[in-house]
Amino acid sequence: KSQEVHDKNFGLFINGYDINTQSLNMHYMSALKSTSSLKSLAWSGDVCLEGVYFSYPLRPDVEILSGLNLTLKWGRVTALVGPSGAGKSTIVQLLARFYEPTRGRITVAGEDVRTFDKSEWARVVSIVNQEPVLFSLSVGENIAYGLPDDYVSKEDVIKAAKAANAHDFIISLPQGYDTHVGERGGLLSGGQRQRIAIARALLKNAPILILDEATSALDAVSERLVQDALNHLMKGRTTLVIAHRLSTVQNAHQIALCDDGRITELGTHFELLGQKGQYAALVGTQRLAFE
Ligand code: ATP
Repeated sequence: KSQEVHDKNFGLFINGYDINTQSLNMHYMSALKSTSSLKSLAWSGDVCLEGVYFSYPLRPDVEILSGLNLTLKWGRVTALVGPSGAGKSTIVQLLARFYEPTRGRITVAGEDVRTFDKSEWARVVSIVNQEPVLFSLSVGENIAYGLPDDYVSKEDVIKAAKAANAHDFIISLPQGYDTHVGERGGLLSGGQRQRIAIARALLKNAPILILDEATSALDAVSERLVQDALNHLMKGRTTLVIAHRLSTVQNAHQIALCDDGRITELGTHFELLGQKGQYAALVGTQRLAFE
C-alpha cells in the first residue's frame, strides 16, 4: 500500500507520513495545508540557485560562492565538476540546507526554500554521499532508516534492495535482512554499503537527489552494480551529482563547471568539449578526477 502511495503521488506520501506518525502538531498541520505546493514542487519544479553568495560562519572574511547562478532542471541530471576547492561540496551543503546563503536565494518551483520547514525539506531531498552513513542496526533497518515503521513494509524494503542491486548479497548474509552491519557498517564492503544507501534513497523516494559520486576504487563487478543502482535512482529525479566518472558527465543532461565560487561553463559534455574552454582543458589535462 505504501509503495503505491509513494509511486502515485508525493502529496499523498506527505499526508500518509504525517497521519501515520501521529505528529499532527501545528507544524505538520501547516505542511498538510501546503500539500498542493509540495506536490507541484515534487513533479514540476526546477531548483534554482539565484545569485548565491556564501561564506562559512567560521571564516566570514572568505567568500566561497560569489553570485552563483545554477538551474537544476526538473527531473534531469546536472553533473557538477570543477577543480578541488572550487565550492562543489559547499553547493551541496546549501542545497541540503545545512547552511543558508549569505546573500541570494535557492528556489524550487519559484518558491524560496526558506518558506519550507527544514524537516519538510529533508523529506523532499535525498543525499547519497561517498561514504554513506550506516548505523549499528540490521541491514533492513538501515534501508528503512528515517521512515516510520508503520509506513514501510518488509516488501517495500526488499523491492528497494532489489532495485539497488543489493538483494542478492543481502540474502547471502547469515541472517539475511536481519544481519547486523556492525559499527558504521564495518561488516560490509564499500560497494555493499553504497548499495544499502542507494536502497534507502529509493525507498525514501524523494524527488530531489544530491549525489557525491565515490572516488574510492571498487572492483569492476561492484562498480558496475553500484553504477546500475545509481542510474536507477537518478531516473526522473531532479539530480545534482558531483561527478567523478566520465560516464556520469557524458550521460548527464547538463554539466556545470564550478570555478572560484561561480558556474563558468554550462552545457553537455560534447558542447563543452567543442567550446575548447576550461572544461575541455580540465578533461584534457585530466585535472578532473575521472577514472
Ligand atoms: P573538492 O573537489 O576538493 O572536494 P570542492 O569543490 O568540493 O573541493 P569545497 O569543499 O566546497 O570545494 O570547498 C570550497 C572552499 O571552502 C575551500 O577553500 C575549503 O577550504 C572551504 N571550506 C570548506 N568547508 C569549510 C568550513 N566548514 N569552514 C570553512 N571553510 C570551509
